[in-house]
Amino acid sequence: MFYELSDEQKAFQKRVREIYEREVSPLVEEYERKETFPVQLFPILGKEHLLCLRCPKKYGGPGLDKISECITVEEMNRICVGIAAGVMVHGGLATDPILHYGSEELKLKYLSPAVRGEKIGAFALTEPDAGSDASGIRTTAQKQGEQYRINGSKTFITNGTICDFVTVAAYTDPSKRGIGINLFVVERGDPGFSVTKKLRKLGNHSSDTAELAFDDCEIPKERMLGEKEGGGLSQLEGTLKSGRITYGARSTGVGQAAFDAIFNYVKKHQRNGQPLSRSQAIRFILAEMAMSLEAMRYMTYRGAWLFDQGLATMKDASVIKLFCAESVQSIVQKAMTIQKQAGLMADNPVQRFLRDGRLAKIPEGTSEIQHLVIAAGLGL
Ligand SMILES: Cc1cc2nc3c(=O)[nH]c(=O)nc-3n(C[C@H](O)[C@H](O)[C@H](O)COP(=O)(O)OP(=O)(O)OC[C@H]3O[C@@H](n4cnc5c(N)ncnc54)[C@H](O)[C@@H]3O)c2cc1C
Repeated sequence: MFYELSDEQKAFQKRVREIYEREVSPLVEEYERKETFPVQLFPILGKEHLLCLRCPKKYGGPGLDKISECITVEEMNRICVGIAAGVMVHGGLATDPILHYGSEELKLKYLSPAVRGEKIGAFALTEPDAGSDASGIRTTAQKQGEQYRINGSKTFITNGTICDFVTVAAYTDPSKRGIGINLFVVERGDPGFSVTKKLRKLGNHSSDTAELAFDDCEIPKERMLGEKEGGGLSQLEGTLKSGRITYGARSTGVGQAAFDAIFNYVKKHQRNGQPLSRSQAIRFILAEMAMSLEAMRYMTYRGAWLFDQGLATMKDASVIKLFCAESVQSIVQKAMTIQKQAGLMADNPVQRFLRDGRLAKIPEGTSEIQHLVIAAGLGL
């Protein structure tokens, strides 16, 4: 049973925190303003063995466990949710399906450079008319001799404009709704693949989000993940389970950042000649923020521990995603309540935590979808 990080895990957390403070913190302001991802960070994190954390050593990865991955995700989100988004998608949704379902050739070709941060990955499932219901996608992949020809469009794709390869969901058999889907690896430069639009967002400004088009995009048939046509959505189940637990760490990270900012503010400021920290109303708010963070962290790391034991269910992962994504809403609102007008100013990080925190409710299954998964897990 997981209760506390081991000494080794605490040492890893300390090392990760130092690296992120040194390498990520100085980039935040500039890239949030530029609304783009600092791509130079990928090889730096690669050298520090902080990409694709669970990728086995055989492919050059660190071969660490889910708890270690959650430690890195929490620490990076504490510094910047936008930058963390690009790193998380690269190490999770983009590369996880290749690791679990790709041929040996694909693993060697894509995972090793991804681990080193030499190639950036993206993942494309969502379309203009299909998100929560993935079986509603319209993108198709038709086999023609030695190739697949992909047609369709994708939207809200993290790392879309900066990726070197993208793991794409498409129907190989559109007559089999939900079942006839496969995942393919498409490379930047493949004929017919283009980035059609860079999207601007409420939050996560330093992550890159785009619309992609596949217009008679031809790729070798060996780039399909898995040995036969069909079953692509069930291949995604393990990736989503893992990603929803990671989202617990993501929400905890930004929640902790909001708490830290407010805690320091309260310790330093006075109102009507009295230290803010003596106000009972403010003490109660901080106590509630701390209580939520403790519950979020406990749930997340217990989920990671269950995942490492092979015991985590989809329901467990959805409970974590839903609880943490909703709890962080209240944490960032409370932070704003204490900061008042100052928190709304552009150079105050609290407004960034509020905007970034709001987005936690959407990717890898919205809060409504997590309710549905939990209810199904209850046998309803
Ligand atoms: C910042 C950001 C980054 C993203 N990155 C990626 C990425 O890298 N790759 C990718 O493929 N996608 C990505 N997405 C897309 C994201 O996964 C989808 O937005 C999400 O799955 C919801 O899909 P949708 O937008 O089509 O909304 P819809 O599915 O149309 O849902 C609209 C609303 O209806 C609700 N709803 C839908 N179905 C039900 C139901 N059955 N019962 C009750 N309520 C329901 C939803 O909760 C939501 O509130 C990203 C999104 C954001 C915001």
